[in-house]
Amino acid sequence: MSVVSLVSERCPACGRPHACPIRVHVGEGALLRLPELTADYRHLLLVADENTFEAAGAETALLLGDKLKKSIVFPGDRLLVPDETAAAAVEERLTDVDMIVGVGSGVIQDLCKYVSHRAGIPYLVVATAPSMDGYASDGAAMILGGMKVTVPSGLPYALVADTAVLSAAPAAMIRAGYGDILGKYSALLDWRLSHLVTGEYFCSAVHDETLAIVERTVAAAHAIAARSREAIGLLTEALIDVGFLMSYVGSSRPASGSEHHLSHFFEITGLVTGREYLPHGIDVACSTAVTAALRERLLAATWERRPLPTEEERHAALRRIYGPVAEGCIALQETAGSYRADRVPLYLQREAEIRALLASAPSSERILTLLREAGISMEEFTSLYGEDTLSDAVAYAKDLKDRYSVLWLAYELGIS
Ligand SMILES: [Zn+2]
Ligand SMILES: [Zn+2]
Repeated sequence: MSVVSLVSERCPACGRPHACPIRVHVGEGALLRLPELTADYRHLLLVADENTFEAAGAETALLLGDKLKKSIVFPGDRLLVPDETAAAAVEERLTDVDMIVGVGSGVIQDLCKYVSHRAGIPYLVVATAPSMDGYASDGAAMILGGMKVTVPSGLPYALVADTAVLSAAPAAMIRAGYGDILGKYSALLDWRLSHLVTGEYFCSAVHDETLAIVERTVAAAHAIAARSREAIGLLTEALIDVGFLMSYVGSSRPASGSEHHLSHFFEITGLVTGREYLPHGIDVACSTAVTAALRERLLAATWERRPLPTEEERHAALRRIYGPVAEGCIALQETAGSYRADRVPLYLQREAEIRALLASAPSSERILTLLREAGISMEEFTSLYGEDTLSDAVAYAKDLKDRYSVLWLAYELGIS
């Protein structure tokens, strides 16, 4: 089974169409395909930051020649936030442009995806690091009005990932990409859990293929850490393929669950309070150990109805944690009706089934071993955030998104 073989007008597993029209070039020398890929375009805008420009931007500019009319290179010394200001800086330069070429990883690509969709101008991805799985996904992870939102945007026109460039990426970015892949263990479990509890749409073919990608990547952990070009190619393909799988089902569900909500929590509260937070993939990887431990606490506990915080107490907690972003979370959950749904009777009725599902995911011990092998420090994560923030995250990260996960199950059963 491969990702491409799942393309179908009517998936045998879920009955929905799975399509993904995008040109992908992964491999050594992939950058050399740029002239032919942009042959039909005349006025290109290059978007990068100083680091990604150095990694592949200069070579991209050379290959695009005089069709490259404009460039925007963000400063490389501070974290670029994919917000309204950054989007406006790109949008200012779009006059007469017929294609956007994004050179970079996470934030640069999210920005290009978002701006491209709003302006109706195609964009091409030049990947610089195997650090995240958003290259081939159709959602742009943005921070708008202080909220972390995934804006449905189009797919890139083409994606170029040159393994010579990617294997020269900083080790921390390679670890982050590997960490984002490890997170799928938690995301896939949440998807199955939501299917069981809320009846959410589920595709077993997409689920199984995502899991197979995770296991292949985990098996190559040592070669990835040693940065062999072949292994970096495998990690890159894994990250891109996960993007396809998200596109097939029209949401990030196979790739993003409670572990991503926890990572969004650290990012958002970090931005609100000016506190440091870790790169996306590292937060996701460590949060995968957090959700595994939470599942274990659920399995060890007795399930019964316990008193929960009142609405007043909950709103006070959200305002304390999220500051100016709290009202957005409260409104989101109000619309979703999450707190009005009384799911405790369902949990008790289907307890055996839910427990069996929770027990089927890798244990926290297994995740911690995988983190150690990848050089990701759980100690750094726990000491950076501290116990109070971690318990706030487990209780209230779920309020950032309208998506069911093990965080809701634990909260509603009063287990923290
Ligand atoms: Zn399907
Ligand atoms: Zn991610």
